[in-house]
Amino acid sequence: TEEALRQSEKLAAVGRLASTIAHEMNNPLESVTNLLYLAMTSGTLSEEAHTYLSTAERELRRVSAIANQTLRFHKQSSKPQRVSCEDLFESALLIHQGRIVNSGVAVQKRKRATETVLCFDGEIRQVLNNLLGNAIDAMSAGEGRLVIRSRNATDWVSGRKGLMLTVADTGAGMSAATQKRLFDAFFTTKGIGGTGLGLWVSKEIVERHGGALRVRSSQAEGHRGTVFCLFLPFDAVAR
Ligand code: ADP
Repeated sequence: TEEALRQSEKLAAVGRLASTIAHEMNNPLESVTNLLYLAMTSGTLSEEAHTYLSTAERELRRVSAIANQTLRFHKQSSKPQRVSCEDLFESALLIHQGRIVNSGVAVQKRKRATETVLCFDGEIRQVLNNLLGNAIDAMSAGEGRLVIRSRNATDWVSGRKGLMLTVADTGAGMSAATQKRLFDAFFTTKGIGGTGLGLWVSKEIVERHGGALRVRSSQAEGHRGTVFCLFLPFDAVAR
């Protein structure tokens, strides 16, 4: 509809603005980081001054993480590509390989999708990276199971045909309060370790592709965990 179109144009404009700001911030951030490093290693600091500087450095790293997340957000894949679910999932798994091995998370794959999808694949890869990263974060207590699935599907809301990718974890799950806010920009429960931009960015990307990103999560004993469902229409590129 026209309203949806206006909404997606608005989001794209916000994205461009965010990316410009993030880009402009990157160079000064880098030089401040370098200066802090020089100050910290200059060797004549009191313990107190050292504490201040290392706190400043930590906070700065957080700002950098936010800038990077925002910047990647709008890096356009130059041309839409036709990709398979297999390809999308494998590249995300590869990125998280180290953490999967270290945390002892077991990965199960159930691939039933036979079709490919036309999309800005760099962006969709970023979405899957975020979903997998969050799932692994949620299972940091160890011994979790990560289940990824793909199938050909008809979206139950829009009726469009496409691919349904799901990422399920047996991690901590989310409270009702978290579920209400998880797609908000800067909402995180990870303190200094999180930017709160992953899902916000992901939802924007998916919606711009005419798809949907939905979540189900439980903290109930016995079926604790979270499932993210990502629907992408076969002809996902609507720009
Ligand atoms: P970040 O990972 O930087 O916190 P996100 O936008 O990716 O930012 O996620 C927002 C919040 O949603 C997380 O801080 C976490 O509380 C919650 N969340 C996301 N995915 C999961 C998951 N698989 N299991 C439990 N909580 C999750």
